[in-house]
Amino acid sequence: MSSNSIHARAALLDDGWAENVRLVLDGGVISGVEAGVEAHAEDERVDHLVPAMGNHHSHAFQRAMSGLAEKRGQGTDTFWTWRDVMYRFALAMNPDQMEAVAAQLYVEMVEAGFCRVGEFHYLHNDRDGLPYANRGEMSERIVAAAGEAGIGLTLLPAFYAHSNFGGLAPNDGQRRFINDLAGFEDLLARCRDMAATHHGVSVGVAPHSLRAVTPQELDALVAMAGDDPIHIHVAEQEKEVADCLEWCGQRPLEWLLAHAPVNERWCLIHSTHLTGDELDGIVHAGATVGLCPVTEGNLGDGVFPAADLLRNGGRFGIGTDSNVSVGVAGELRQLEYSQRLAQRQRSVVARQGWSSGRVLFSEARRGGQAALNFSVDIEQGAPATFVTFDSASVPWLSRDSLLDAWIFGDALRPDGVWIDGRQMVAEGRHVAAGPVAERFRRTMTELLRETGLQ
Ligand SMILES: [Zn+2]
Repeated sequence: MSSNSIHARAALLDDGWAENVRLVLDGGVISGVEAGVEAHAEDERVDHLVPAMGNHHSHAFQRAMSGLAEKRGQGTDTFWTWRDVMYRFALAMNPDQMEAVAAQLYVEMVEAGFCRVGEFHYLHNDRDGLPYANRGEMSERIVAAAGEAGIGLTLLPAFYAHSNFGGLAPNDGQRRFINDLAGFEDLLARCRDMAATHHGVSVGVAPHSLRAVTPQELDALVAMAGDDPIHIHVAEQEKEVADCLEWCGQRPLEWLLAHAPVNERWCLIHSTHLTGDELDGIVHAGATVGLCPVTEGNLGDGVFPAADLLRNGGRFGIGTDSNVSVGVAGELRQLEYSQRLAQRQRSVVARQGWSSGRVLFSEARRGGQAALNFSVDIEQGAPATFVTFDSASVPWLSRDSLLDAWIFGDALRPDGVWIDGRQMVAEGRHVAAGPVAERFRRTMTELLRETGLQ
């Protein structure tokens, strides 16, 4: 049930926590904010209220393989063995299944407190590798799923043309990802048409990686992007760094920063393996580092030096990437714990005197907004997009300690989520959760049969 006015016992505003905050909502926008006021009789009462978070990096179809890629194979399990399972799902999924899996994922994202997702979408072609008659078929399913879940979408169609550095021919397992530049231009135009006609949808461009895109193709994609966001996977794996050095004598980030017009519109996904000079280069360019802490941990990628980035004035966001789990709290916890394990210290990301949860939450929100080119704050004129928590079961926690308990503990999860004035989550459950979960269950039965995984 949506309400036209909300009263929060405490709310996280742009300049910090305030008590007794009353919001008036009008047409999906916050039309009034007052702090230090009593509730009116008609107000919906909430306990703690915070602005919502963007999830800058997702591959929706991979939600289907959560829990199915953890069995150890022969020899050493690596990113590359995980990728084999991922390709089995990628090769099996039809458009209806894509939509069902994405809808389940996006419902889970909203329940977790994400209000917008950057969908780095590369499953474009039909199962035989030929384009669908409508090249935007699979993208349309992503847009439909986001609409059903009520989550904002920055659709990032990915250009993927090669299997490794130097423009090597793609392999058969990659056939559903492949485009040439003319085909991609058609796809991008269809995505932009959808953005123009669907509320909450915007578009960027995603050169998949330096493995999958030649320098000439990268130039063409940057030109196609115009002023839209540009996202690229870079320096995730040590093998990728070694292959890049062999190809050109430079490391992936070193090459990218020297040869592409990287600026504040760019999101550099992972950036795990970087030198101090490369970190300085990212900060100087103003780009966002696209961290995906749970997936990076799951795949054994490595640990990004997040505290160094912040100390140097840089910016990071968080993404759920492979969607093996879906949570704001889980990503931020993994991010902080990876830093603590690497440095054998506590409270690594926070500045002195600050709560870890508050700094992680605020910094990731800032990075997510930059990467996805959107803005939500609790202020007049902003979208009515926020998350509420009920501290009734933990009344001794409030403000920053509540954020810390959410991120590092198990007792709290979002109670309510509003996106553009619509209440999508009430009492912790998405309004469309039931039918979406039922369709997802049916789809998983089909997919497991078709992939031969069970
Ligand atoms: Zn990714």
